[in-house]
Amino acid sequence: MRVLPPVFLIDIFDRPDEISRMSMPADYHIHTPLCRHAKGEPLEYAARALAVGLSEIGFSDHSPMRAEFDNWRMRFDQLAEYVEKVRRAQRDFPNLVIRLGLEVDYLPGGEDWVRELARMVPWDYFIGSVHYVSDSFAVDDPKELSKWKERDPFEIWEMYFDRLTMAAESRLFDIIGHPDLPKKFNIYPTKDCGPMFERFLDCASKTGVALDVNTAGLRKDCAEIYPSPRFLQLAAARRVPISFGSDAHDPSEVGMDFDRAVRLAREMGYTHYHRFQARNRLETKL
Ligand code: ZN
Ligand code: FE
Ligand code: FE
Ligand code: ZN
Repeated sequence: MRVLPPVFLIDIFDRPDEISRMSMPADYHIHTPLCRHAKGEPLEYAARALAVGLSEIGFSDHSPMRAEFDNWRMRFDQLAEYVEKVRRAQRDFPNLVIRLGLEVDYLPGGEDWVRELARMVPWDYFIGSVHYVSDSFAVDDPKELSKWKERDPFEIWEMYFDRLTMAAESRLFDIIGHPDLPKKFNIYPTKDCGPMFERFLDCASKTGVALDVNTAGLRKDCAEIYPSPRFLQLAAARRVPISFGSDAHDPSEVGMDFDRAVRLAREMGYTHYHRFQARNRLETKL
């Protein structure tokens, strides 16, 4: 019996990009405790990723603002620590591809800050997310649920999609995070949101920004992947690219429900998704 020379193994694991084309897509939406509402260090997320059969992940913790802004993101003086934690995971897990990203809040007028952040570190990608529809109202914050009762949900969805469309138009981001986040609490407008989806998606298809197919929605009141099947079908028709994310705030959530996410994407007609390296996109077979 011939024993494979060890160089064979080294050869495979030296080219982790080859492995990543197998089975599960990369999980690009993962947090760290620096944002003050996630558990588990990058090393634990990486170990979990390998255990569930992922070959590529990316960290995208909530980005800092110039000054203290709210209490659910890393502070600016922790940015270097964040990068070092991810670099350490890259060193300790050489057979897992680990990308370095950020989930950056899109705020109108905050574009210069996003550009500054982009220049500070050689990032692999930025996820642009809208959480704030005004200076003080984050649509996904359970503490602000009362605001949903004070007005017509349609108005809130419109405010959200106005900002999301501006985020897509800005060309500051590689991926748009959880694109129909306002459904989180399962509060839907009675009026049709189709036209606002289409306006956003026309813009996304023009700028080429990808959509985060995000399984965290399955763990929320809406019990549905972000974005909805209807939304993703409109996206596929416009050839808007996609990536995948678990939005893990705990190592146990890495890659969660990716089988369902891939099935949904395939059903809507997707045959490829995008990975990112040094802010260049890599089209990858699904
Ligand atoms: Zn978070
Ligand atoms: Fe988010
Ligand atoms: Fe997130
Ligand atoms: Zn997120």
